[in-house]
Amino acid sequence: MTDMPYNRLGRSGLQVSALSFGSWVTFGTQVDTSLAKDCLTVARDAGVNFFDNAEAYAGGQSEQIMGDAIAELGWARHEYVISTKIFWGIHKGVPNMENTLNRKYLMQAIDGSLERLGLDFVDLLFCHRPDANTPIEETVWAMSDIVSAGKALYWGTSEWSADEIRAAWEIADRRNLHKPVMEQPQYNLFETRKVEKEYARLYEDIGLGLTTWSPLASGLLSGKYVDGIPEGSRASLPGYEWLKGLLTDEKKNGQVRELAELAARLDVTTSQLAIAWCAKNPHVSTVILGASTVDQVHENLGALTALERLDDDVLAEITGIIHPWTRG
Ligand code: NDP
Repeated sequence: MTDMPYNRLGRSGLQVSALSFGSWVTFGTQVDTSLAKDCLTVARDAGVNFFDNAEAYAGGQSEQIMGDAIAELGWARHEYVISTKIFWGIHKGVPNMENTLNRKYLMQAIDGSLERLGLDFVDLLFCHRPDANTPIEETVWAMSDIVSAGKALYWGTSEWSADEIRAAWEIADRRNLHKPVMEQPQYNLFETRKVEKEYARLYEDIGLGLTTWSPLASGLLSGKYVDGIPEGSRASLPGYEWLKGLLTDEKKNGQVRELAELAARLDVTTSQLAIAWCAKNPHVSTVILGASTVDQVHENLGALTALERLDDDVLAEITGIIHPWTRG
């Protein structure tokens, strides 16, 4: 297999593997601790050093499973980079504990996450969404204090607007606080707006790094939905009905069929081609993979081979299939 490349996370000195592995939907719903251990091992053996999580995934169970799996595998703490993300909260109905980035929530949420993960610190801590009801300055101070306390090494944002990210960065700069260094946006062949347009100035201006999510648009870009919804797939899971419209979209599935033909000509799978396309963007520090089986992890890591085949002609062909005006 092709060697895993490592990229700097934006202007920070931290190196993350070009492909990483996350636990949304899967851990706690489709993946238990035993299967998590197998998936994590396959990823790590291929050179993956970054593992993504969030407080809200499976109501905290995802952090618990990843923490237990890593402990059982006996991984040394210096060998991997791990993240969590906080915003939604897991104490539903308790004032100050949900949908917020206020200081009280942030200070308590990080402690809960560390306890479930069984760790003293996370490497990356993300504000999972923006919070229009808390002054950005309050959030920046709290996140910076969490870093100063050694509970996180770097902090960043997820799905914030460019203006919000720049405002946070400027407050931190003025006050000599720890600055946000990374953002976690959605990025795939059907969803490109934030990464390619909205954040365009931030890469140079503030050295923003990106850990991008849903490279397969929840599985759509694997080609598994071209003939309907397979049993056991994400679109069939209770609670994820909201994804059905996207995953069974006829026009998009038609484009995926064309991508599949191109992938076959390149002797790679459709998933590998779609993931490699994300990794090809030089602003993307790491593409976070999702998988519900060990076979999917294996297949998706093979995107490194597809990456070597993505020359200008292939990229132009992909653009021809996924016309810019059909993208998000
Ligand atoms: P993808 O878009 O790659 O979707 C992954 C899902 O697609 C898998 O769980 C599986 O679902 C299906 N799949 C994956 N590989 C294959 C394959 N080779 N063949 C067929 N089906 C396949 O990524 P995710 O949406 O899972 O996102 C990746 C990570 O990004 C998450 O785990 C999380 O860490 C992060 N994330 C962050 C968000 C944020 O707000 N910051 C939001 C969402 C994700 P199935 O088998 O069930 O059909």
